Amino acid sequence: MTFESPLLRTQRADLIDRLQAPHTYDIAIIGGGATGLGVALDAAVRGFSVVLVESHDFAKGTSSRATKLVHGGVRYLAQGNISLVREALQERTRLLANAPHLAQPLPFVMPSYKFWEAPFYGVGLKMYDALAGKAGLGATEFLNREETLRLQPTARQAGLKGGVKYWDGQFDDARLALALARSAARAGALLVNYCSATGLVHEGGKLVGLHVADQESGQTLTLNAKCIVNAAGVWVDQLRLLDGQAIGREVKPMVAPSQGVHIVVDRSFLPTDHALLVPKTADGRVLFAVPWLGKTILGTTDTPRNDLAREPLAFREEVDFILGESARYLSKAPQPADIKSIWVGLRPLVKPPEEDGDSTQALSREHTVLVSKSGLVTVTGGKWTTYRAMAEDVLDNCFAADLLAKRPGGVTENLRLVGARKASHTISSPPGVHLYGSEAVDVLALPGADRVLGGGLTEAMVRFAARHEYARTVEDVLARRSRLLFLDAALAKALAGEVAELLEQETGANPRLAEFLALADQYLVLPA
Ligand SMILES: Cc1cc2nc3c(=O)[nH]c(=O)nc-3n(C[C@H](O)[C@H](O)[C@H](O)COP(=O)(O)OP(=O)(O)OC[C@H]3O[C@@H](n4cnc5c(N)ncnc54)[C@H](O)[C@@H]3O)c2cc1C
Repeated sequence: MTFESPLLRTQRADLIDRLQAPHTYDIAIIGGGATGLGVALDAAVRGFSVVLVESHDFAKGTSSRATKLVHGGVRYLAQGNISLVREALQERTRLLANAPHLAQPLPFVMPSYKFWEAPFYGVGLKMYDALAGKAGLGATEFLNREETLRLQPTARQAGLKGGVKYWDGQFDDARLALALARSAARAGALLVNYCSATGLVHEGGKLVGLHVADQESGQTLTLNAKCIVNAAGVWVDQLRLLDGQAIGREVKPMVAPSQGVHIVVDRSFLPTDHALLVPKTADGRVLFAVPWLGKTILGTTDTPRNDLAREPLAFREEVDFILGESARYLSKAPQPADIKSIWVGLRPLVKPPEEDGDSTQALSREHTVLVSKSGLVTVTGGKWTTYRAMAEDVLDNCFAADLLAKRPGGVTENLRLVGARKASHTISSPPGVHLYGSEAVDVLALPGADRVLGGGLTEAMVRFAARHEYARTVEDVLARRSRLLFLDAALAKALAGEVAELLEQETGANPRLAEFLALADQYLVLPA
C-alpha cells in the first residue's frame, strides 16, 4: 500500500475545529514521538478512529535525538539478547523499504589496534549477519590495514592492524516522525501538536477520556475514547500517577531515564560514507562516529539522571569523554572549538521494581506495555528501529484487555510512508530537497524554491513545513523539518529571523523567535 492521495494541509484552525467536534474515538494517544506516532498509523490503517495529542512538537522529545541508526543493536548481541536483536534486524529492513528517502543502509568500519580485535568482533558480527538472514544488508568482511584506511581515511594510523566492515542503517529521525504523522493523517487520524494531555477522565473506575489543553490558545477540551494509550516517552509516569490517584491504586515509577549526549563536528573529521564504531570505550560502551547530513555525529553517553527536562543539558565530563574517545580513533582529534552542536536525549529505560537506579547500562532496552486496572495502556522503552513492532504489540494489548474489538495486524509491514521514493542521495550527504522523496516536486512548486536561506534550507521548504508539516515555530522548522539546529547551531541561529518572517506570513501565529535564539545558544555553549 502507498499514500497516493493529494497533499493534506495542516492548518491549525482546522485541526482544532476537528478536535472540538463531539466524538468518541476508538483510540486516543498521548505523545507524538516514534512510539505514539507508530501506534496512530497502525490503528488508523486498521480502520480505527484515532486522535493523537502531543504537548510540544512531534519528535520534540527523545525521537529527534537518536544516534540516527536503524540497527539491530550489535551491543545487545554481546549481551546475549538474541530475540531483541532478531526483531530489530527484521524491522530495520522493513523501515529501509518503507521510507527509502529517509532511511538507508550504512556500512560501518570497526578499526582494530590489537591483533585479537578483528577476529573477536568479526565472529560476533558474522552472527549478526546470520540472525538477520534474508533481512541482511551485506556480509561482514575482514579488512587489512590498507582496506581499512581506504574506507576510513581519517582512522588513527599508529598501531592500526586492520578492521571489520559490517552493515546497519541510518535515518533522519525527526523527518521520519513527521512522515509517520502525515501518513497517519492520510489514513484518517487526527494529530495535533502543541496540545497537552492534562488529566484523565474515569467513570466507575474505568478510563473513558482525557482532558487536553491547546498550548497556543490555552483552551481546554475533553476527548472521549474507548482506549487511551500513554506513549509519553520518559514522561509516562506522570500520567500513570494521575491514573493511579483516580482509582486509588499505588503506582511505582517504571522509567529510569538515562541521558545520551551527541556532539556534531565537520565532515572533514570523517570524510567518508562509512561510519566508525569504537567497540569498547573506557567505560565499556560503544561509541559511534556517523556521517550524517553532511556532518559527523560523535556519541553517545549513558548517564542516569532523575529530572526530566525537556531540553536536558550535557555534563562537561560527557563532552570531554566523547572528544577523548574520538581522539583515540581519529587521526585529527576534534577540539571543543570544532563543536557545531551539542544535543542531549533521554532514554526511557524501563526499570524492574527492585532496581536502585544507579546504573542504566543493565536496564532493559526492550519496550514494555502495561495495562492498568482502569484501562490506561502505557508503552515505553524499546528503540526507534522497532517502533512498528511496538505499535503492533500495543494494539494486541488493547485487544487482549477488551478495550478494542480485534482487527487483523500486519497492515504496516509493507506500508510505504508519505514521500517514499528510492533515494537519490545518501543520508550522509548534505541536506536538500531529496529528503522530501516523492514530495520534492511539491516543495519545488512553492514560492521561493530557488531561494536558499542556508544549510540546504529554502524559502519553499519553510512554506511547505507550515502548510503541510504542522510547523508552528522557528524551532519546529530549524530543529525538526530541517535539522540545522542539530547540525550547525550557529548557522541555525543566523537563519532564524528569516524563517520567523516566513512562518508568520504563512500561519499568522507568533513563531517564537526569541525562544529559539536562546535554545540555539544552549546547543552551542560547552557546559562549564
Ligand atoms: C541518546 C539516544 C540515542 C538513541 N539512538 C537510537 C538509535 O540510533 N536508533 C534507535 O533505533 N533508537 C535510538 N534511541 C532510542 C529512541 O530514540 C527512543 O526509543 C524513541 O525515540 C522513544 O520514542 P518515544 O515516542 O517513546 O518517546 P519520545 O520521543 O520522547 O516521545 C514522547 C512524547 O510524548 C510527549 N508528551 C509527554 N507528556 C505529554 C502529555 N502530557 N501530553 C501530550 N504529549 C506528551 C513528549 O513531548 C514527547 O514528544 C536513542 C535514544 C537516545 C536517548
